[in-house]
Amino acid sequence: MSESGIVYLVGAGPGEPKLSTLRAKELIECCDVLVFDHLTNPEFRRWTREECVQVDVGKSPGRHTVEQRDIEKTLVTHASSGKMVVRLKGGDPFVFGRCAEEMLALDKAGIVYEVVPGVTAALACAGYAGLPLSHRECGSTISFLTGHEDLSKEELRVDFSKFANVGGTLCIYMGMSKLEDIVKKLLNGGMSPDIPSAVVSNGTLPSQRKIISSLKDLVSSTQEAGLQAPAIVFIGNAIGRTGIRANWFEKRALFGRRIVLTRPAGQVSKFKEKLELLGAEVIELPLIEILPSQDKKVIAEVFAGIATYEWAVFTSANGAREFMRLFFLAYGDIRCIGPMRIACVGESTAEVFRNHSLEVEIVAEKSIAESLAKELVATDSLDSANVLVVSGNRNRQVLVKMLEDVGHAIVDTLPLYETDFTDVTEATDFPKFREFGADAIIFTSSSTALSYIEQEEDLFLNENAIKPVICSFGPETTKTLLENELIVDLECTNPSIEDMTGKLVKHFS
Ligand code: SAH
Repeated sequence: MSESGIVYLVGAGPGEPKLSTLRAKELIECCDVLVFDHLTNPEFRRWTREECVQVDVGKSPGRHTVEQRDIEKTLVTHASSGKMVVRLKGGDPFVFGRCAEEMLALDKAGIVYEVVPGVTAALACAGYAGLPLSHRECGSTISFLTGHEDLSKEELRVDFSKFANVGGTLCIYMGMSKLEDIVKKLLNGGMSPDIPSAVVSNGTLPSQRKIISSLKDLVSSTQEAGLQAPAIVFIGNAIGRTGIRANWFEKRALFGRRIVLTRPAGQVSKFKEKLELLGAEVIELPLIEILPSQDKKVIAEVFAGIATYEWAVFTSANGAREFMRLFFLAYGDIRCIGPMRIACVGESTAEVFRNHSLEVEIVAEKSIAESLAKELVATDSLDSANVLVVSGNRNRQVLVKMLEDVGHAIVDTLPLYETDFTDVTEATDFPKFREFGADAIIFTSSSTALSYIEQEEDLFLNENAIKPVICSFGPETTKTLLENELIVDLECTNPSIEDMTGKLVKHFS
């Protein structure tokens, strides 16, 4: 029998993964078992190790998929077999989180546990909605209350009429299904009908929505706006004490826009971050995968003669990265790269070399291979020159032909990776895309477009889903999309993350 494990009762924060603690992140990244419920963001599951066992014990209001007793049993069973278990709970584990019951069960089974606090929903919703909970002049107490703990229990848990006169700010969790009742009790208890009130649903997420009204209109305003759980209800004078800029979160340029990135998994982080900073919700549907090329003989020959090339030409950042990786494997010293001059299609490809302090002499103005070939020919340095063209398996025949026929260069090609279509139905975000659609889908290359076209039937959207605006990174991608009868709504002028982001902001403003 193995040694007993440990359970970490971890607060995940309110929804936005970046509002989790560093401690939560490091524990999720190394745990053996992750036990999570429905209020925790799916993003956390991507942080785990591949071997991590993920257990969904999600409950939604009125539908207990897993009994509390069974959750406790799951924790005990895994920890008893020596595993490191993270029990991830929305917000803070000690705020209406049934944490005490789990601690008791672990105590009883003799299992060690630790508690990691999290940002609770009331604080996060207040911050992201710009609603202060305290104010020097009118809010010196803050109360956390709960409407119900279990929908099947009909009665309100709290005697709200008693809270009508406590002053300060009331933050009510799980109050949506009994909102009318709660408001009535507060008014009957003597609370002013004009006191500022608010409801914030899906706080901190791209789907955050809120209303602000007086207490007497709170129910009708909430219904009119169609706000639903999860939501926090705020009541108190302090929340009415800010100006127009308080709405900072919902004011961001791409707030609430769902944008699909189709790049290979692992290559979206920079773009994703940029879009998220502007308030967008990013969906990842990797349509292609990049696999290293297997032709070891060609690779060995090229690297053996690396110092003999006058020009090295790169048509993609993937090729550039793989080239540098193999170069360092072969030589381990940057000086061995020889006197070659470097030419690239696109800024992101050039960036790979600049990161190694290598100068890039040509970055094709237009991100297409023909344009690069023209610029190379214009240098008048190609006649009888040894030129290496590094690319994927979808080789740039036009580029090579122009360098040979017009520039009279001696060209070696080095295919360093292969592009394969992925099975899009296996992507984590695929069901979400099918059900809700998106505001925009971004094709970064012809191959992502071709993969989409090949799998169009699987990608067919549900009836009420939003049809995305089609965005193309450059002329070649646009050509592929148009040839397949897809209308391109946005195209980069200068293919880059910055340019595409700018175009999206303009389009949606
Ligand atoms: N332990 C959690 C609360 C669990 S009770 C915490 O500390 O936040 C579940 C209730 O929390 C929901 O019914 C809702 O009232 C509130 N809640 C959780 N996440 C929320 C969110 N993103 N936006 C608004 N309310 C949220």
